[in-house]
Amino acid sequence: MNAALRHDWSLDEIRAIHDLPLLDLVFRAAAVHRQHHNAREMQVCKLISIKTGACPEDCAYCAQSSRYSTGIEPERLMEKEKVLEIAGRAKASGVSRVCLGAAWREVKDNGQFDRVVDMVKGVTDLGLEVCCTLGMLTESQARRLEDAGLYAYNHNVDSSAEFYETIITTRTYADRLNTIENVRKTQVTVCSGGIIGLGERVDDRLQMLQTLAGVRPHPESVPINILSRVEGTPLADNEDVPVWDVIRMIATARILMPASDVRLTAGRAKLNATEQALCFLAGANSIFSSETEFMLTRAVPSPSYDADAELLRVLGLQVRAPFDNPNAPRAAELAARVAA
Ligand code: SAM
Ligand code: SF4
Repeated sequence: MNAALRHDWSLDEIRAIHDLPLLDLVFRAAAVHRQHHNAREMQVCKLISIKTGACPEDCAYCAQSSRYSTGIEPERLMEKEKVLEIAGRAKASGVSRVCLGAAWREVKDNGQFDRVVDMVKGVTDLGLEVCCTLGMLTESQARRLEDAGLYAYNHNVDSSAEFYETIITTRTYADRLNTIENVRKTQVTVCSGGIIGLGERVDDRLQMLQTLAGVRPHPESVPINILSRVEGTPLADNEDVPVWDVIRMIATARILMPASDVRLTAGRAKLNATEQALCFLAGANSIFSSETEFMLTRAVPSPSYDADAELLRVLGLQVRAPFDNPNAPRAAELAARVAA
């Protein structure tokens, strides 16, 4: 019987799951994972920073905030041709989703957004799922991206509402939820997750998962980031997160949101192959990979395409093809569009 998709998890229920003896938790999450997913498949994604640095927001973890001296050189909006080149190489390396990230507070209805819409069309026409993470979005902007064939929009809630205001003061948790709601008014799927290692309590992590599992339908993709400490940011001296906390977060996210893709994202480069294998067993079925050793900017390292291909080979995992997610209704429709 497939684990039910619930939106009403209580914090006590979530804590009871999260605090299970670790191997019981992993076993339970692995069973749920197999009820909803092909456990031999891994979605491989590639992040492209299409507009880097000089962000006006003050997210305490972020290398791209203009508030902190992190050594990130601001770069203008990337030319579409360059985006398509990187995306083409990514596809040849087994990537099925390309994520276009911009260091913006929000999208503005201007020529830059027109160019991003054009990039979405171009990368979709390459036969790849496209995700955008551009900051806050209005409903009409979400509709424009939908019309361009956007597959997913990333907008992380990052932590609990209460802890959020201690790491970001230039926008509110409600702003984040509002953008997710705007995306939910379209057929674009939602990618939303968060970060652990910000200095939060375990309860903040569980409240974040409770918020995410309350989104109807569940976010189709839930990234679990491990804080990558960036010199020059207020969180540069935070303690590293024990891998057991990462495994507990992934397993709990899997049990709460059985049909979602759970993505092991920033910070994966610090985990060895065995630790990553435990995360996959616990239900992580999506990763970011890269042709450089960086994820989005030089501040956050990423495993390479070759290293990940070897890891997947050793673990007996295959890459998931684009638009091949039985849990996402939009997949088939977009696949048909691309094939036409
Ligand atoms: N400007 C867009 C926004 O804020 O939504 C895109 C942000 S960033 C490219 C996407 C996500 O990466 C952030 O929401 C955050 O969760 C995560 N992230 C950014 N910097 C990170 C870091 N140093 N360590 C871990 N996760 C990080
Ligand atoms: Fe800007 Fe996004 Fe970084 Fe926050 S996370 S500083 S909004 S790029």
